[in-house]
Amino acid sequence: MSIDPALARFCDGREAEHLEVLKRWIAVPSVSADPERAADVAACCRVVVEYMRAIGLEAEVLETAGNPIAYGQWLGAPGQPTVLIYGHYDVQPVDPVELWNSPPFEGTVRDGKIFGRGAVDDKGQVLMHLAAIDAHLRTRGRLPINVKVVVEGEEETGSPNFDEAVKRYARQFAADAAVISDTSVFSEDVPSLTTSVRGLVHWDVEVRGPAEDVHSGYYGGAVVNPLEALASILAGLKDADGRVAIPGFYDGVAELDPALARELAALPYDETEEARKLDVPALGGERGRGPLECMWYRPTLECNGIWGGYHGPGYKTIVPSWARAKLSARLVGEQDPIRVRKLVSEHIERNAPKGVRVRVSDGGSVRPVVISRDHPVVAAAARAMEAGFGKAPVFIGTGGSIGPVATFDRILKIPQVLIGVGLPDDRIHAPNEKFNLKQFFGGIKTMAALYDELPRSGLGAGGGESPKRTG
Ligand SMILES: [Zn+2]
Repeated sequence: MSIDPALARFCDGREAEHLEVLKRWIAVPSVSADPERAADVAACCRVVVEYMRAIGLEAEVLETAGNPIAYGQWLGAPGQPTVLIYGHYDVQPVDPVELWNSPPFEGTVRDGKIFGRGAVDDKGQVLMHLAAIDAHLRTRGRLPINVKVVVEGEEETGSPNFDEAVKRYARQFAADAAVISDTSVFSEDVPSLTTSVRGLVHWDVEVRGPAEDVHSGYYGGAVVNPLEALASILAGLKDADGRVAIPGFYDGVAELDPALARELAALPYDETEEARKLDVPALGGERGRGPLECMWYRPTLECNGIWGGYHGPGYKTIVPSWARAKLSARLVGEQDPIRVRKLVSEHIERNAPKGVRVRVSDGGSVRPVVISRDHPVVAAAARAMEAGFGKAPVFIGTGGSIGPVATFDRILKIPQVLIGVGLPDDRIHAPNEKFNLKQFFGGIKTMAALYDELPRSGLGAGGGESPKRTG
């Protein structure tokens, strides 16, 4: 599998130019979590729209109830499929800023990498697509497919207005397939495509004891301690094998297919090395299952925070009035977020120790998404990646949750491909985020090859087939 030499030549000849564009984008501090950066966020949207226009897309700013979406389209291939390319121009905050080796909003090239906030997550990966579109339009005057590029500004804050925008701009979002470049490959030598994404829900647990903190000498031993009650509730959520002990929790979770299990085992993954990097004595998880299986193909139930009582200097001998904890679960396969929320809430309330009142509130509804690797769009992406990186990709999962992936699955019901080329050590969301130039330039060629592969994939035009789901 190889890329059209004319396209490859164009991409090679424009590397310096693409790097300059990426630096200009990094220079706009589009931190969506920071209200003080609202003007920068809006400015970044305009910068992306202007670039889309410069390379020949029809582009506009789509207003939403939150940050605007940069939208561009090229629809000059009648009878060919329409592909929706998704990415985001907003970025994570940069603190602690003193840990950066170069200014976060100044794209700086060192050792074959460009450093800066948003370099890979996701400005650089959005730019890969626009550069690839540019390559097609400038070498051939046209694209082999129709494209719609959607670059949103709220991914890093959970895409709160994205579902609404997809419904409001139904015409702009109508497509036969979605291509998303906001993930990493397994490693530099192991290109990969992501075919499963976990869902996400969360809980707030409050345990109430006496109306106010009471003297532990007078009442200790007679009044149930809310902190201890909460600790016992949490401890009861899993059994000794690390399995969630709530009946029905695993409904919709399939056992790993033997072929998939063999693939997992063949990946170059060193558990000891991983533990060393994390600075933990050993990795955990469900007994009898490896870390990759636990991270990608099994659900979790985690305590994210726990607090209450006295934690100042010295001692304060009380039975505290209350205790609280935050929990979240990552979901896989066919687990239903709303059902899991209810199941866990009811389980905790039902098993509340006597002598305290327990209140649970729940939220979140991000569904897990499983993408069939047999889908022709995924096969096309695999061929394109081989063209761009010289090696056929393996299929992996991601433990994280990408809200828009669930949106495309649920609202648009179109097949999608997660074809990101970041590396696991890119330090996204952390100081010194970087994008290896080899990945960036290889990614541009991959996307250029992908657009050529898609019309050959048998993907229908105008309507799109619904994504086939597998356990
Ligand atoms: Zn991202």
